[in-house]
Amino acid sequence: MERTFVLAKPDAVQRGLIGEIIKRLEQRGLKLVAAKFLQVSTDLAEQHYAIHKGKPFYEGLIRYICSAPVMAMVWEGPQAVTAVRQTMGATRPTEAAPGTIRHDFGLEVGRNLTHASDSPENAQAEISLWFKPEEMVDWKQSNETWISGNN
Ligand code: GDP
Ligand code: MG
Repeated sequence: MERTFVLAKPDAVQRGLIGEIIKRLEQRGLKLVAAKFLQVSTDLAEQHYAIHKGKPFYEGLIRYICSAPVMAMVWEGPQAVTAVRQTMGATRPTEAAPGTIRHDFGLEVGRNLTHASDSPENAQAEISLWFKPEEMVDWKQSNETWISGNN
């Protein structure tokens, strides 16, 4: 099992799309193991997006992510990192495949609705940046074997 970190970004929250994003991840068969609704501080935003520091869009990205609340989540499942990136779609909504969140609800790269970790290593780092270990909920999904069973 793998875990990945997901954000419904400020535009998704303002547009009332938190439920839609959660719905799609639930329908995929992924399991929610942590969630919190918060206003992101500049400090947290800068740590989260440290890799993009110096890029032309960096300052705007930090302003965007701090501009309204976000819903931060951890989702678990087989190949969760890849599966969630696929459900989100390509970074630029105009390049995202139809049926993905970024395609279905977005137009601009600077308002692309979601964040999802891009590797299992980054997922672990992002999960520990945003959540304390005690905020993770260990629970058994009753239909688990019907989604990730391999027998
Ligand atoms: P992601 O992993 O698909 O979210 O994409 P990246 O890690 O490359 O970029 C992080 C975030 O920065 C993206 O989701 C966008 O919100 C934003 N971003 C990336 N590239 C651009 C760009 O060229 N212009 C603007 N305005 N924002 C960008
Ligand atoms: Mg990224």
